[in-house]
Amino acid sequence: KDFRNNVKPNWCPGCGDFSVQASIQRACASLGLEPDDLALISGIGCSGRISGYVNAYGFHGTHGRVLPIAQGVKMANKDLTVIAAGGDGDGLAIGMGHTIHAIRRNIDITYIIMDNQIYGLTKGQTSPRSESGFVTKSTPEGSIEPSVNLMEMALSSGATFVAQSFSSDIKDLTSIIEQGVKHKGFSLINVFSPCVTYNKVNTYDWFKENLVKLSSIEDYDPSDRGMAMKTLMEHDSLVTGLIYQDTVRKSYQEMVKGYKEEPLKDAELNMDREKFNELVQQFI
Ligand code: SF4
Repeated sequence: KDFRNNVKPNWCPGCGDFSVQASIQRACASLGLEPDDLALISGIGCSGRISGYVNAYGFHGTHGRVLPIAQGVKMANKDLTVIAAGGDGDGLAIGMGHTIHAIRRNIDITYIIMDNQIYGLTKGQTSPRSESGFVTKSTPEGSIEPSVNLMEMALSSGATFVAQSFSSDIKDLTSIIEQGVKHKGFSLINVFSPCVTYNKVNTYDWFKENLVKLSSIEDYDPSDRGMAMKTLMEHDSLVTGLIYQDTVRKSYQEMVKGYKEEPLKDAELNMDREKFNELVQQFI
Protein backbone atom coordinates (compact mmCIF):
# COMPACT_ATOMS: atom_id res chain seq x y z
CA LYS A 1 0.00 0.00 0.00
CA ASP A 2 2.90 2.34 -0.58
CA PHE A 3 1.80 5.06 -2.97
CA ARG A 4 5.24 6.69 -2.97
CA ASN A 5 7.55 6.22 -5.94
CA ASN A 6 11.16 7.22 -6.46
CA VAL A 7 10.44 10.25 -8.67
CA LYS A 8 11.51 13.52 -7.05
CA PRO A 9 8.93 16.28 -7.66
CA ASN A 10 10.34 19.35 -9.39
CA TRP A 11 7.89 21.77 -7.81
CA CYS A 12 9.44 24.85 -6.19
CA PRO A 13 10.27 24.40 -2.49
CA GLY A 14 7.18 25.39 -0.49
CA CYS A 15 4.69 24.86 -3.34
CA GLY A 16 1.28 23.81 -2.01
CA ASP A 17 1.14 20.91 -4.45
CA PHE A 18 3.49 18.82 -2.26
CA SER A 19 0.77 18.50 0.37
CA VAL A 20 -1.84 17.53 -2.18
CA GLN A 21 0.42 14.71 -3.37
CA ALA A 22 1.05 13.54 0.20
CA SER A 23 -2.65 13.74 1.07
CA ILE A 24 -3.67 11.63 -1.93
CA GLN A 25 -1.08 9.03 -0.93
CA ARG A 26 -2.20 9.01 2.72
CA ALA A 27 -5.91 8.95 1.90
CA CYS A 28 -5.57 6.02 -0.51
CA ALA A 29 -3.41 4.06 1.94
CA SER A 30 -5.85 4.69 4.76
CA LEU A 31 -8.75 3.53 2.57
CA GLY A 32 -6.92 0.23 2.13
CA LEU A 33 -6.36 0.66 -1.61
CA GLU A 34 -3.45 -0.95 -3.43
CA PRO A 35 -1.47 1.03 -6.05
CA ASP A 36 -3.09 -0.97 -8.86
CA ASP A 37 -6.56 -0.02 -7.56
CA LEU A 38 -5.89 3.65 -8.35
CA ALA A 39 -5.67 5.67 -11.58
CA LEU A 40 -4.46 9.24 -11.17
CA ILE A 41 -5.18 11.36 -14.23
CA SER A 42 -3.77 14.87 -14.46
CA GLY A 43 -3.95 17.91 -16.70
CA ILE A 44 -1.29 20.38 -17.80
CA GLY A 45 0.38 22.89 -15.51
CA CYS A 46 2.68 22.61 -12.50
CA SER A 47 -0.05 20.58 -10.78
CA GLY A 48 -0.33 18.27 -13.80
CA ARG A 49 2.98 16.66 -12.88
CA ILE A 50 1.33 14.98 -9.92
CA SER A 51 0.39 11.85 -11.85
CA GLY A 52 4.10 11.03 -12.17
CA TYR A 53 4.73 11.39 -8.45
CA VAL A 54 2.30 8.80 -7.10
CA ASN A 55 2.78 5.06 -7.34
CA ALA A 56 -0.40 4.14 -9.24
CA TYR A 57 -1.67 4.00 -12.80
CA GLY A 58 -1.01 7.50 -14.13
CA PHE A 59 -1.90 9.50 -17.21
CA HIS A 60 -0.66 13.04 -17.85
CA GLY A 61 -3.32 14.34 -20.20
CA THR A 62 -3.64 17.43 -22.35
CA HIS A 63 -4.58 20.93 -21.25
CA GLY A 64 -8.14 21.12 -19.97
CA ARG A 65 -8.97 17.52 -20.87
CA VAL A 66 -8.32 15.77 -17.58
CA LEU A 67 -12.02 15.07 -17.00
CA PRO A 68 -12.90 13.44 -20.36
CA ILE A 69 -9.93 11.10 -19.86
CA ALA A 70 -10.73 10.34 -16.22
CA GLN A 71 -14.41 9.69 -16.95
CA GLY A 72 -13.46 7.37 -19.82
CA VAL A 73 -11.05 5.47 -17.60
CA LYS A 74 -13.77 4.98 -14.99
CA MET A 75 -16.39 3.88 -17.50
CA ALA A 76 -13.99 1.30 -18.93
CA ASN A 77 -12.65 0.13 -15.57
CA LYS A 78 -15.48 0.22 -13.10
CA ASP A 79 -13.39 -1.29 -10.31
CA LEU A 80 -10.66 1.35 -10.44
CA THR A 81 -10.65 4.29 -8.07
CA VAL A 82 -10.16 7.26 -10.35
CA ILE A 83 -8.79 10.58 -9.16
CA ALA A 84 -8.41 13.49 -11.56
CA ALA A 85 -6.18 16.43 -10.61
CA GLY A 86 -5.23 19.72 -12.20
CA GLY A 87 -4.93 23.45 -11.69
CA ASP A 88 -7.55 26.17 -11.72
CA GLY A 89 -6.35 27.35 -15.12
CA ASP A 90 -6.65 23.83 -16.51
CA GLY A 91 -10.10 23.04 -15.15
CA LEU A 92 -11.80 26.44 -15.09
CA ALA A 93 -10.57 28.08 -18.30
CA ILE A 94 -10.04 25.71 -21.23
CA GLY A 95 -11.56 22.83 -19.26
CA MET A 96 -14.59 24.65 -17.83
CA GLY A 97 -17.10 23.03 -20.20
CA HIS A 98 -15.91 19.59 -19.14
CA THR A 99 -16.02 20.57 -15.48
CA ILE A 100 -19.66 21.68 -15.55
CA HIS A 101 -20.80 18.64 -17.52
CA ALA A 102 -18.84 16.23 -15.31
CA ILE A 103 -20.48 17.80 -12.26
CA ARG A 104 -24.00 17.35 -13.58
CA ARG A 105 -23.23 13.89 -15.06
CA ASN A 106 -22.11 12.55 -11.67
CA ILE A 107 -19.73 9.77 -12.73
CA ASP A 108 -18.10 8.23 -9.67
CA ILE A 109 -14.68 9.90 -9.74
CA THR A 110 -12.90 12.45 -7.54
CA TYR A 111 -11.67 15.72 -9.06
CA ILE A 112 -9.07 17.70 -7.11
CA ILE A 113 -8.44 21.25 -8.26
CA MET A 114 -5.12 22.63 -7.07
CA ASP A 115 -6.17 26.24 -6.87
CA ASN A 116 -3.20 28.64 -6.79
CA GLN A 117 -5.09 31.52 -8.43
CA ILE A 118 -2.38 32.04 -11.05
CA TYR A 119 -0.75 30.29 -14.02
CA GLY A 120 2.50 29.01 -12.47
CA LEU A 121 4.04 26.88 -15.22
CA THR A 122 3.96 29.76 -17.72
CA LYS A 123 5.53 32.08 -15.13
CA GLY A 124 2.71 34.02 -13.56
CA GLN A 125 -0.33 35.20 -15.51
CA THR A 126 -3.87 35.91 -14.30
CA SER A 127 -5.96 32.74 -14.06
CA PRO A 128 -9.73 32.14 -13.78
CA ARG A 129 -9.46 32.13 -9.99
CA SER A 130 -7.42 35.37 -9.71
CA GLU A 131 -9.34 38.10 -7.92
CA SER A 132 -10.13 41.35 -9.70
CA GLY A 133 -7.36 43.87 -9.22
CA PHE A 134 -4.75 41.07 -9.33
CA VAL A 135 -1.54 42.42 -10.91
CA THR A 136 0.51 40.11 -13.14
CA LYS A 137 2.51 40.41 -16.35
CA SER A 138 -0.71 39.80 -18.28
CA THR A 139 -2.69 42.34 -16.21
CA PRO A 140 -0.15 45.06 -15.25
CA GLU A 141 -2.90 47.46 -14.19
CA GLY A 142 -4.81 44.75 -12.29
CA SER A 143 -7.36 42.27 -13.60
CA ILE A 144 -10.70 43.88 -14.38
CA GLU A 145 -12.51 40.51 -14.31
CA PRO A 146 -14.01 38.91 -11.20
CA SER A 147 -12.78 35.41 -10.37
CA VAL A 148 -14.80 32.26 -11.11
CA ASN A 149 -16.83 31.37 -8.03
CA LEU A 150 -16.21 27.64 -8.28
CA MET A 151 -18.07 26.49 -5.20
CA GLU A 152 -21.28 28.40 -5.99
CA MET A 153 -21.04 27.29 -9.61
CA ALA A 154 -20.70 23.64 -8.55
CA LEU A 155 -23.69 23.81 -6.22
CA SER A 156 -25.87 25.41 -8.86
CA SER A 157 -24.72 22.86 -11.48
CA GLY A 158 -26.04 19.90 -9.48
CA ALA A 159 -22.89 18.72 -7.70
CA THR A 160 -23.40 15.86 -5.24
CA PHE A 161 -20.12 16.36 -3.34
CA VAL A 162 -18.49 19.76 -2.91
CA ALA A 163 -15.60 20.35 -0.54
CA GLN A 164 -12.75 22.74 -0.06
CA SER A 165 -9.47 22.44 1.80
CA PHE A 166 -6.10 24.13 2.30
CA SER A 167 -2.81 22.45 1.47
CA SER A 168 -1.30 23.60 4.75
CA ASP A 169 -3.90 21.55 6.67
CA ILE A 170 -2.82 18.09 5.58
CA LYS A 171 -5.02 16.31 8.14
CA ASP A 172 -8.18 18.00 6.89
CA LEU A 173 -7.16 17.59 3.26
CA THR A 174 -6.48 13.86 3.70
CA SER A 175 -9.85 13.38 5.39
CA ILE A 176 -11.67 15.33 2.64
CA ILE A 177 -10.00 13.22 -0.07
CA GLU A 178 -11.00 10.02 1.76
CA GLN A 179 -14.61 11.24 1.93
CA GLY A 180 -14.52 12.24 -1.74
CA VAL A 181 -13.23 8.84 -2.85
CA LYS A 182 -15.87 7.06 -0.77
CA HIS A 183 -18.69 9.23 -2.18
CA LYS A 184 -20.72 7.40 -4.83
CA GLY A 185 -20.73 10.05 -7.54
CA PHE A 186 -18.65 12.98 -8.75
CA SER A 187 -16.66 14.57 -5.93
CA LEU A 188 -15.31 18.06 -6.44
CA ILE A 189 -12.55 19.12 -4.07
CA ASN A 190 -10.99 22.56 -4.41
CA VAL A 191 -7.66 22.90 -2.62
CA PHE A 192 -6.09 26.28 -1.93
CA SER A 193 -2.55 25.39 -2.95
CA PRO A 194 -0.31 28.47 -2.81
CA CYS A 195 2.14 29.24 -5.61
CA VAL A 196 5.01 30.62 -3.55
CA THR A 197 6.96 31.75 -6.59
CA TYR A 198 4.47 33.89 -8.51
CA ASN A 199 1.45 34.60 -6.31
CA LYS A 200 2.55 37.06 -3.63
CA VAL A 201 -1.03 37.92 -2.64
CA ASN A 202 -2.72 34.59 -1.83
CA THR A 203 0.05 33.32 0.43
CA TYR A 204 -0.09 30.76 3.27
CA ASP A 205 -0.46 33.64 5.73
CA TRP A 206 -3.26 35.21 3.68
CA PHE A 207 -5.22 31.95 3.71
CA LYS A 208 -4.60 31.42 7.43
CA GLU A 209 -6.09 34.87 8.08
CA ASN A 210 -9.05 34.55 5.75
CA LEU A 211 -10.26 30.93 5.74
CA VAL A 212 -13.12 29.82 7.98
CA LYS A 213 -13.49 26.16 8.96
CA LEU A 214 -17.04 24.90 8.53
CA SER A 215 -16.55 22.83 11.68
CA SER A 216 -16.46 26.16 13.57
CA ILE A 217 -19.93 27.14 12.33
CA GLU A 218 -22.56 25.93 14.77
CA ASP A 219 -25.18 23.52 13.35
CA TYR A 220 -23.68 23.58 9.85
CA ASP A 221 -25.39 20.81 7.89
CA PRO A 222 -23.67 19.68 4.67
CA SER A 223 -26.82 17.90 3.48
CA ASP A 224 -28.66 21.25 3.29
CA ARG A 225 -27.98 22.78 -0.12
CA GLY A 226 -29.61 26.09 0.79
CA MET A 227 -27.46 26.42 3.89
CA ALA A 228 -24.37 25.56 1.84
CA MET A 229 -25.10 28.31 -0.70
CA LYS A 230 -25.95 30.87 1.99
CA THR A 231 -22.75 30.07 3.91
CA LEU A 232 -20.62 30.37 0.76
CA MET A 233 -22.16 33.76 0.00
CA GLU A 234 -21.68 35.01 3.56
CA HIS A 235 -18.00 34.04 3.61
CA ASP A 236 -17.07 34.87 0.01
CA SER A 237 -16.52 31.09 -0.48
CA LEU A 238 -13.46 31.23 1.80
CA VAL A 239 -14.51 28.19 3.81
CA THR A 240 -12.93 24.78 4.26
CA GLY A 241 -14.50 21.42 4.96
CA LEU A 242 -17.34 19.40 3.46
CA ILE A 243 -19.65 22.04 2.00
CA TYR A 244 -22.35 19.85 0.49
CA GLN A 245 -23.07 16.16 -0.02
CA ASP A 246 -26.09 14.50 -1.60
CA THR A 247 -26.03 10.81 -0.68
CA VAL A 248 -29.37 10.05 -2.34
CA ARG A 249 -28.83 10.82 -6.01
CA LYS A 250 -27.56 7.87 -8.03
CA SER A 251 -24.25 8.02 -9.86
CA TYR A 252 -24.12 7.96 -13.67
CA GLN A 253 -22.94 4.35 -13.67
CA GLU A 254 -25.89 3.25 -11.60
CA MET A 255 -28.25 4.77 -14.16
CA VAL A 256 -26.66 3.74 -17.47
CA LYS A 257 -28.77 0.99 -19.02
CA GLY A 258 -26.70 -1.99 -20.03
CA TYR A 259 -23.59 -0.80 -18.21
CA LYS A 260 -21.48 -3.92 -18.30
CA GLU A 261 -20.73 -5.70 -15.10
CA GLU A 262 -17.52 -6.84 -16.72
CA PRO A 263 -14.97 -3.99 -16.98
CA LEU A 264 -14.37 -2.97 -20.60
CA LYS A 265 -10.66 -3.61 -20.09
CA ASP A 266 -11.48 -7.32 -19.62
CA ALA A 267 -13.86 -7.56 -22.57
CA GLU A 268 -13.07 -9.88 -25.47
CA LEU A 269 -11.17 -8.14 -28.27
CA ASN A 270 -13.66 -8.38 -31.09
CA MET A 271 -11.04 -7.83 -33.77
CA ASP A 272 -8.45 -9.84 -35.58
CA ARG A 273 -5.25 -9.64 -33.48
CA GLU A 274 -3.06 -8.82 -36.53
CA LYS A 275 -5.33 -5.97 -37.57
CA PHE A 276 -5.32 -4.69 -34.02
CA ASN A 277 -1.51 -4.71 -33.93
CA GLU A 278 -1.41 -2.84 -37.27
CA LEU A 279 -3.71 -0.22 -35.83
CA VAL A 280 -1.56 0.17 -32.74
CA GLN A 281 1.58 0.59 -34.89
CA GLN A 282 0.06 3.73 -36.43
CA PHE A 283 0.20 5.42 -33.05
CA ILE A 284 3.74 4.42 -32.08
FE1 SF4 B 1 4.28 25.55 -7.44
FE2 SF4 B 1 4.17 28.03 -8.38
FE3 SF4 B 1 6.47 26.74 -8.40
FE4 SF4 B 1 4.50 26.01 -10.03
S1 SF4 B 1 5.63 27.95 -10.10
S2 SF4 B 1 5.81 24.62 -8.82
S3 SF4 B 1 2.69 26.37 -8.77
S4 SF4 B 1 5.33 27.33 -6.58
